[in-house]
Amino acid sequence: MNIQVQCCGIVLLLFFLYFYSRQKNLHLNTGTAFFRTLIATLVSITMDALSIIAICNGEKLPPLFVKLVCKTYLATLILPVFCAVYYICTDIYTRRVEYRRVLYCNAAIGLVGIPLIYLLPISIHCDMAGREVYTYGPSVLAAYASASIYFVINWVLLLRKKNVIRKSRRASMQFWMLVWIGAAIIQFFHNELLLVGYASAIGIMVLYLKLENPEMNLDKETGLFHQMALTRYLKQLSNREKHVSILLMVFEHSFYQNSSQESETVAEMEMINFISGVPGTMAFRSAGDEILLLYEDRAEAEKGLGILRRRFECGWGKDGQVFRHPFWIYLPDSAMLQDVKDVFLLIRHARQNSKELVDNGFLQIGGEFIQEMYRTREIEWLIFNAIGQDRIMVYYQPIYSTAEKRFTSAEALVRITDESGRMVPPNDFIRAAEKNGMMLRLGEIIFEKVCRFIKESNPAQYGLQYIEVNLSAVQCAYAPLADTYIAIMERYGISPQFINLEITETAALGTKKVVLDNMNRLIDYGVSFSLDDFGTGQSNLNYIVDMPVSIVKFDRSMTNSYFENGKAKYVMDAAMHMIQGMQLKIVSEGIETREQCEIMEALGINYIQGYHFSKPLEEQAFLAFIRGRNA
Ligand code: C2E
Ligand code: MG
Ligand code: MG
Repeated sequence: MNIQVQCCGIVLLLFFLYFYSRQKNLHLNTGTAFFRTLIATLVSITMDALSIIAICNGEKLPPLFVKLVCKTYLATLILPVFCAVYYICTDIYTRRVEYRRVLYCNAAIGLVGIPLIYLLPISIHCDMAGREVYTYGPSVLAAYASASIYFVINWVLLLRKKNVIRKSRRASMQFWMLVWIGAAIIQFFHNELLLVGYASAIGIMVLYLKLENPEMNLDKETGLFHQMALTRYLKQLSNREKHVSILLMVFEHSFYQNSSQESETVAEMEMINFISGVPGTMAFRSAGDEILLLYEDRAEAEKGLGILRRRFECGWGKDGQVFRHPFWIYLPDSAMLQDVKDVFLLIRHARQNSKELVDNGFLQIGGEFIQEMYRTREIEWLIFNAIGQDRIMVYYQPIYSTAEKRFTSAEALVRITDESGRMVPPNDFIRAAEKNGMMLRLGEIIFEKVCRFIKESNPAQYGLQYIEVNLSAVQCAYAPLADTYIAIMERYGISPQFINLEITETAALGTKKVVLDNMNRLIDYGVSFSLDDFGTGQSNLNYIVDMPVSIVKFDRSMTNSYFENGKAKYVMDAAMHMIQGMQLKIVSEGIETREQCEIMEALGINYIQGYHFSKPLEEQAFLAFIRGRNA
């Protein structure tokens, strides 16, 4: 009997089946499709062996039974190929409707092919010694024809949808098909060489080793699922519109007490094992070194959260010497997100924005947080598009000099319109740009626009002495800022005396040395500085002493409380005397009425800025304003 080849194939497949089912598995769609292909191939090759046994024992068995076994083998021969189409489709069709449509069409081919195999006649060849055993005739042809149709479909799908299938996956699938077709052709011309089943098994081996080894989804260090696996899994959840509860552990601090490298590793492993062992938990290690836990059941998630938080209060490792204190972020239901894949956005937003996270170490995500997150994303898009489409504008608000009785400066204020032409308040997008790293680029664009404006319209001819340009704290802490700004001024041939940069107290809170270096470098070059927003925040007079500024700008809130609150008068008077005692000038912002303006002037404030004179104006309107008012 010539079934050694089939037996080898069966052993090979059982071996992979064992490994596949023993390994930690994420149950991705492709994995499930692969598993079905593996089982179909195993069934087919087993039927192949059984059919040979039946033929060889033909004299002891009823002829109809032998034929039925042979035909069943032929029917199962097309199963793995059908499963392969299904396997490829999981990659191509993410939408369930499309996916089902293709599968139903393919199933229809099987529904025609399989009855034909059973209805058409089959002939059996068996030499006396049982060494040459094979079947032939119309039924066999029907099986090969059905399989060939599937192969053609497979091949066409692979070529037509090559953009959505990973290259390695395409290559492995094509290899599998070529091996199968090669074996089928040999078997067709040399009926006695029963190679097809074994060739299928080899193909499965290649798929397993190259694509479907569950080990490939695991992070080598921790044995948890890795970031790529998480991305794929979330994509699958999103396609299936399935919801989960998500618990995120962000590790910022560790505390080791007399611990060695070894005890830390032991503690780490203990921790990972504990996390993975919490019932219902699917644990992933994300690229930012966070651990992300997914739960299909919310009650289980909340129970898990309790178990984990309690456990993390104790130490890990031998003698409990290693303490890890993660920040916990809990999203009760991923349905709160527009798409479950937005969980990465959520992680970033939570890390950047939540004071609660820092204060309590725990944050439960609610609707408001999610709304704010999407709003920030919208604004980020807005800035991104505005930069790309050159939709960033600079408006100018005139500043009145009480000594010269005319407008001697102006503040440059950025304006962005959204796609519908609506203005977006700078306070919103400046904050977003500072957080996502776009502020540096945005700041440079604004500064270039101011320089271009000065160069092209020469506002000095109307009595303007300088323009104040806001600098964000992020820009101040950027070491190459001074060089970049000097290069821009040189490119446009702008005199540095025409530029005054506004910084805020928050700039000085960060890396003070960088801020001071930038300021001193720019001051040496000829630029001057203002301290903006005085009267908000801490308004620590030390900042004025420390920072080489020549102007202090009283915030609108401060001037307003001066008009409304008796005590505030004394605070402002005192601040004013101190500031002017240091030979610095003062700008009062947010002056809206003639009366306020007169009071400020009488107080001795040097400059006045506010709607009383003008709102911020676009370039031409601003030029017309100072031309008219300074004439
Ligand atoms: P800021 O630098 O303190 O600018 C003054 C803000 O007060 C401006 O708001 C201005 O339009 C507003 N304002 C002026 N006079 C009055 C008034 O009489 N009444 C009222 N209600 N408001 C008045 P805006 O343009 O919305 O800017 C808000 C903040 O956004 C600015 O505060 C500044 O911190 C930031 N910002 C604006 N443009 C830029 C920029 O180009 N770069 C940077 N880094 N920040 C900017
Ligand atoms: Mg300002
Ligand atoms: Mg201000």
